Amino acid sequence: MENLNEKCAIFGVYGKGIDVARLTFFGLFALQHRGQESSGIAVADGSDIKRHKDHGLVAQVFTEEAIDSLKGHIAIGHNRYSTSKGSGTEHIQPMVVGNGALAFAHNGNLPSTRALEEFLQGKVENTAGLSDSCLMAHAIHWYMEQGKALPDAVTAAYPLFTGAFSIVAMTKDTLVAARDPKGIRPLSLARLNGGFVVSSETCAFSTIDAKFVREILPGEMVTIDESGLSEKQIAEGEQKLDIFEFIYFARHDSELMGKSVYEVRKNFGKTLAREYPIDADVVVGVPETSLPCALGYAEQSGIPYEMGLNKNRYIQRTFIQPDQKLRDKSVKMKLTPIPGVLKGKRVVVIDDSIVRGTTSKPIIDLLFEAGATEVHFLVSSPPIRFPDFYGIDTPAQDSLIAYGKTVEEMRAAIGATSLHFLSLEGMLRSTGLPKESFSTSCFTGEYPVDLKERYDEINYPSDVSISSTSPKQMEPG
Ligand code: AMP
Repeated sequence: MENLNEKCAIFGVYGKGIDVARLTFFGLFALQHRGQESSGIAVADGSDIKRHKDHGLVAQVFTEEAIDSLKGHIAIGHNRYSTSKGSGTEHIQPMVVGNGALAFAHNGNLPSTRALEEFLQGKVENTAGLSDSCLMAHAIHWYMEQGKALPDAVTAAYPLFTGAFSIVAMTKDTLVAARDPKGIRPLSLARLNGGFVVSSETCAFSTIDAKFVREILPGEMVTIDESGLSEKQIAEGEQKLDIFEFIYFARHDSELMGKSVYEVRKNFGKTLAREYPIDADVVVGVPETSLPCALGYAEQSGIPYEMGLNKNRYIQRTFIQPDQKLRDKSVKMKLTPIPGVLKGKRVVVIDDSIVRGTTSKPIIDLLFEAGATEVHFLVSSPPIRFPDFYGIDTPAQDSLIAYGKTVEEMRAAIGATSLHFLSLEGMLRSTGLPKESFSTSCFTGEYPVDLKERYDEINYPSDVSISSTSPKQMEPG
């Protein structure tokens, strides 16, 4: 089964008298960072479901005409992240199944779909090649065919969903939103003009002037229909938000578990400065995610923060593959140095993560080419040694640069003067939240949702410690 749902965004709205398709467009536009491969909106008007979807960025997929054709009072939308696998149009969400009876969109990933496939055997013609999201939609629809209303159908199918999921589902007259029992992917609820909105991230609420109400809880489902909002805990919840939402994935202006993503990233930088004080002249962040971390490092260390790297703000996914020569330059298409900031300087550069290690070396080369005398590469998360199965798209374990390598070996591979990673404890402490409320699987190999047959894909190295350069003792706070 291919992982087709990495790094996605979901959005839903219920409201009479609201132009729900237009609103969903702006919601998805605000959530563009969670997925750039394709986008779709489905709208229900009480008697029918209509949908528009295509490959491309939100602003490319929807024209004024497309939005105008989607009339109704309920909408769900989805942005999908680019992946080399399964890019066919049939995988673009929202899915619509049962001849327009159900629309469904999913953020997350089910590492094991065995239970779903077994359940659907004999009920759906052929499950081979169906994505996990499609299987989920079929399972819900099967229960609807047995006479269950949408909320009851979701409740009945829920135990078959073994993995990470935040979902929105819609019939012609009802909207449902739910989160997996560990709340691995985020999902929040807001009010708007007498109606309700749900969104992967709170940043979308600011765009559309919706008033944040609360996060949907792990294991909870909310239903919105003619009679208003109803809430139901369908499974016991235990919050295990993927810490990667704070590290890389969420937008700075979102809030997760009551914490500003911006503030937490700044704290990551401050903690890095306490763990790894470095004699340097300037602190630089790799745009965009790491900029608050660099600010935090600068504030804590007293070393001036400068914009040493400029990001081309029009960089976006194109569907034209660059040739090899251009691909080698792809970092330069995105990032260029500001030589005046770097020439003759000892530079601390901060990035949020190292995954394959393919971008770190060209960034370090850029900084040296621009005249830096030392480049200390600091990472605001620990080494990623384990693959992700819950929807963040970190690759197979042997493609991870930190797998089986010491920090010194990694430093040599990327050509930095020194390389340091934020400690696991320091990272968790910087969130200001209990450490038990996070999934840290890609750093620790501890997976809060059973991976079943997928455990075979993981090696637990015994010979490599998490960090070969020990951080300084943390100060409290
Ligand atoms: P790599 O070059 O593979 O080591 O990737 C690390 C860079 O990609 C960092 O600059 C991150 O900001 C960014 N990054 C981290 N996680 C992801 C992800 N899941 N998808 C895309 N980019 C990512």
